[in-house]
Amino acid sequence: MRWWMTRERVDDRVVIALNVVLPTRGCSWNKCYMCSYALDSEDTNFLPEFMTIMDQEFQKIKIFTSGSFLDTRELPEPTRNKILDIIKKKKVRELTIETRPEFHEEALSVYSYLKKDSIALEVAMGLESSNDRILKYCINKGFTFKDFVKAVAALEGMKIKAYLLIKPPFLTEYEAIEDAVKSAEDVAEMVDVISFNPVAIHKKTLVEYLWRTGTYKPPWMWSVVEVLNRTCHLPAHIVCHPVAVGKRRGVRNCRKCTGMLAGKVQDYSLANGEITHDCHCRGEWIKEINSI
Ligand code: SF4
Ligand SMILES: [Zn+2]
Repeated sequence: MRWWMTRERVDDRVVIALNVVLPTRGCSWNKCYMCSYALDSEDTNFLPEFMTIMDQEFQKIKIFTSGSFLDTRELPEPTRNKILDIIKKKKVRELTIETRPEFHEEALSVYSYLKKDSIALEVAMGLESSNDRILKYCINKGFTFKDFVKAVAALEGMKIKAYLLIKPPFLTEYEAIEDAVKSAEDVAEMVDVISFNPVAIHKKTLVEYLWRTGTYKPPWMWSVVEVLNRTCHLPAHIVCHPVAVGKRRGVRNCRKCTGMLAGKVQDYSLANGEITHDCHCRGEWIKEINSI
């Protein structure tokens, strides 16, 4: 079972968060063009190991399931309840779970159960984009922006986090920036946190095929910075934790500045202050943006 610790903001305080990936059977949808989480699925009895990991010191726990925590086909209810019992004993301040919007009704029982112990529930949903054409043709998400909005309305009292993609396939670098900024503006009033995910190339996906055939490349780090700087004033808290930074399959600038900018993006996620930086590779990025 994979787990790691991060620093996160909970109610204006920076706390230690345990991030853990439960090896469930994987996402029931499993059709998004950039995603191969289902390949990581194992469907084993992970509870003993989960209990051991819980010995760490932390005030927040984020559970990733390679799909939806609230999908009972993926995570049967008795297992889910055992996990919640373990978390209750730990007396954390906040639990974050991930789900597709169609399972939102299941969130209500989890929320009420945790509320008795003053544990806040944050429900994270991968919206990716507020543009229905992009959801359908570039991502194959299987739901519309309206479905997401309906789920948000039903999750009253819970904290909501929306994941937005930076650079879905079939968009130029320029279009991807505009889509990410517009999507954030569209959801900023209805969610507490927006988490930008710059696309990284997963194995055995359509995006990997496009990348291998030279018709897709992951976003520039400059594009991520542009999106973050244009959205830092929005009412939602903005975070971004890119993966595969500087690698062939991930977000990148030149060798000189990628690492330093990645650090600035991490700091941004805590305080949302504007990122300033300069490097010779910025000219190349501007050329690419202007070529569209
Ligand atoms: S991105 Fe989310 S909804 Fe889409 S296939 Fe992957 S886990 Fe499922
Ligand atoms: Zn550079």
